[in-house]
Amino acid sequence: MASSKDPIIVVGAGVIGLSVATLLQSCYRDAPITIIAAETPTTPSPSADYASMWAGAHYRPVPGSTPQLKQEAQMALRTAERMERIADESPEAGVAFSMGVEYLEDPPKEVAGLKTGDVYASPNDGFRVLDQTELPAGAKWGCEYRAYCVNVQPYCRWLLDRFISKGGQVILHRLSSAADAFDFARQRGLGRVKTVVNCSGRNFDQDPKVKIIRGQTVLVKQQYDKTVTRQNRDGSWAFLIPRPRGGGTIVGGTKEIGDPETHPRPETRQKLLQQAVDAYPDFVDSVDKFKILKDNVGRRPWREGGFRIETEFISPERRIVHGYGAGGRGYELSWGTAERVVELVNASPAAKPRL
Ligand SMILES: Cc1cc2nc3c(=O)[nH]c(=O)nc-3n(C[C@H](O)[C@H](O)[C@H](O)COP(=O)(O)OP(=O)(O)OC[C@H]3O[C@@H](n4cnc5c(N)ncnc54)[C@H](O)[C@@H]3O)c2cc1C
Repeated sequence: MASSKDPIIVVGAGVIGLSVATLLQSCYRDAPITIIAAETPTTPSPSADYASMWAGAHYRPVPGSTPQLKQEAQMALRTAERMERIADESPEAGVAFSMGVEYLEDPPKEVAGLKTGDVYASPNDGFRVLDQTELPAGAKWGCEYRAYCVNVQPYCRWLLDRFISKGGQVILHRLSSAADAFDFARQRGLGRVKTVVNCSGRNFDQDPKVKIIRGQTVLVKQQYDKTVTRQNRDGSWAFLIPRPRGGGTIVGGTKEIGDPETHPRPETRQKLLQQAVDAYPDFVDSVDKFKILKDNVGRRPWREGGFRIETEFISPERRIVHGYGAGGRGYELSWGTAERVVELVNASPAAKPRL
């Protein structure tokens, strides 16, 4: 049986792995926690596969009545609570709250029942359904509420630095599977590992339910003061995500299922900038006025049916706790996911930690 002093391995240093490792560290004070990852927030040129480096990232709730969406809504609320604390106590982390605005051309039935005053993004989020007179041309529904944005690279770096400063270890290494971490840990003298937490994003492409969703965005120097999202009737999106602490604004973005292209497409950049000018002329009113800092391409690790958060025993003494497949919601679900993963680590047959 595992004990609360047994070493724990977390595979992956994306926003999920870093959040899980942070929470494990605060629960298992006597256990050595090690992150093994192919890429970390200090990797100089992260690949498109390291999704956390390419996210917007903002919090935009996805209302719905399916068990998956209900569960995600709970995880999003838990995450928002913790992000509020981070924004207050550690402004250097790069999390900040501002107004979130949405305009939908073809609103799904899930939003039709929403009323001003409902809890949408968090309690006291000031949720308000916009009046028809406030909607831009073409939009049928809109709302505003208090949301947060994350400046993703500094935020992940902040999580990593805190993890290391509290005694966490990080090993840069590409594994062939989550199970491979047990033998790797033995070879590296990390002790007898009984628990590996798999936050590898896509589970080594060994789960047939996992697919990539390509996302291309543009980072511009101009700083917007709120995060706005417009979903068009043709399924395309125009969003602006200001990056806290003067990090510019993300102009986005695409959601291209299964598209393997890792380079930015110039025609996509042009289209995104034009869409932004059309939808938000109060931000920048012509494409040639954008001060472009960077084109971004990332692959969202999407899993049909949702995140996999469950325990798999590969032998009586070795278990893998999975936490992968966040799709386009890894930041806004991160702390809620970490709590669930830690609950699984705490669960039988492992001994309870000293909390
Ligand atoms: C354009 C774009 C916009 C987005 N916007 C938002 C947003 O606004 N809000 C939001 O919440 N989310 C957003 N996302 C989604 C978010 O980025 C992902 O959900 C999140 O980053 C997933 O985190 P992760 O830790 O699961 O995976 P990743 O960040 O992909 O991390 C995986 C980790 O596992 C490691 N790993 C993988 N394979 C191996 C291996 N073989 N051996 C060792 N280590 C391995 C990697 O090196 C890495 O450290 C966006 C994504 C994109 C691309």
